[in-house]
Amino acid sequence: MKLFGSSGTRGVVGDGLTPEFVLRVAKAAGTVWETDRAVVARDTRTTGEMLANAAVSGLESVGVDVDRLGTTPTPSAVRYAGEYERPGIIITASHNPPEYNGVKLVGADGVELSVADLERIEEHVLSEDFGTAAWDEVGASRTIDAVNREYVEDLLASVDCETIADADLTVALDPGHGAGALTSPEFYRKLGCEVVTVNANPDGHFPGRESEPVEPNLADLKSLVKAADADVGIAHDGDADRAVFVDETGAFVAGEASLAALAAAELEAGDTTVAAVNVSQRLVDVCEEVGATLELTPIGSTNIITRIRELRTMDAHVPIAGEGNGGIFFPEYRLVRDGAYVGAKFLELVAERPVTEIVAPYTDYENVRINLEYDTDAELDAMLGAAREFAESADADPNTIDGYRLDYGDAWVLVRPSGTEPKVRVYAEARSESRARILAEEAADALRAALEE
Ligand code: MG
Repeated sequence: MKLFGSSGTRGVVGDGLTPEFVLRVAKAAGTVWETDRAVVARDTRTTGEMLANAAVSGLESVGVDVDRLGTTPTPSAVRYAGEYERPGIIITASHNPPEYNGVKLVGADGVELSVADLERIEEHVLSEDFGTAAWDEVGASRTIDAVNREYVEDLLASVDCETIADADLTVALDPGHGAGALTSPEFYRKLGCEVVTVNANPDGHFPGRESEPVEPNLADLKSLVKAADADVGIAHDGDADRAVFVDETGAFVAGEASLAALAAAELEAGDTTVAAVNVSQRLVDVCEEVGATLELTPIGSTNIITRIRELRTMDAHVPIAGEGNGGIFFPEYRLVRDGAYVGAKFLELVAERPVTEIVAPYTDYENVRINLEYDTDAELDAMLGAAREFAESADADPNTIDGYRLDYGDAWVLVRPSGTEPKVRVYAEARSESRARILAEEAADALRAALEE
């Protein structure tokens, strides 16, 4: 795919991503979709309204009516699309910096479009092959106010409210000024939790913290957990399809550890789970322990969704899947990453015992990530060439399903270009930080050397 990467299309607004581009995508989607009515939603970014308007205009121009959902979490927009069987366009750049935005497409079945469906739309964008509607057949739009309320009601009907309410939990919540600010505080309060918040006003400038829910951005949440004597801290990204956690002592919980804990609670012998090629050894160990099968895909939610769909047709039972960045699927709930739902599933565990105990079995691995920036395609090619040579000469098992994964037995390294930013990422995991750091730096040094040649 030329336009759509592993998680839609993203770019800096005005540079890589323009309203003209969104208009063309919307015209193409409206041409391909056999529908009278579609959905347009967005997150809290300052450019969201402008790009959503372009999407609405494009759909209307090819004769499609539009439900404008306004600002809402991605999982909420996806729920609405599935519930009312209307495909949709979501304007979001997820966790990227504020100057970014993006386009995500969802089908009338309430699932992100498959690669094949995206390619069909992409062909129409590239060839500018759009339908047209006569002056008296253009679409019209209407505003849907109930979308966030319906989403919260649906969440409440999908989790074990009684167990969570009975535990009298205090939840510290950091929606990071994203769309989750509109729904998660209310959701966790209605679950019977005492909720304290930080960065909980929707604001596309992201004044309080950067949008990605990673440890360096969560100092406020860690402080809040301690100040409020909370049982757990929950943080979302900008479109609230991810959730990561802080334990009751105010320490960040690695996303790989919370995924492993949730998987251990969900998986039974004979089940299958799906993860990306950067999967943690923690999840590998959980699968071995319970006798579940672990399937690896290229990184990106679209690839995981595609694999879950394939497995379902083979009658596999996939109760949980996802990545160690807080993006976790519970496919029996819905085939979408939903930060609020992941948070509630974690609260079901926190109702039984403290977070430190829940994640204790999964804290003995350390993760290191190094980002190597590049300016030109030639530099990217040089680094990837060096990565291939490094993989071939390393004393490890290589896996090339997506980038280069090297399995050293006690540890692994993955070298892979980012799908959304001009960076090559080097990931490593080992039982000690020094071992992971050494392996990551070894690979990174080989790539840096290629840049200097
Ligand atoms: Mg996201």
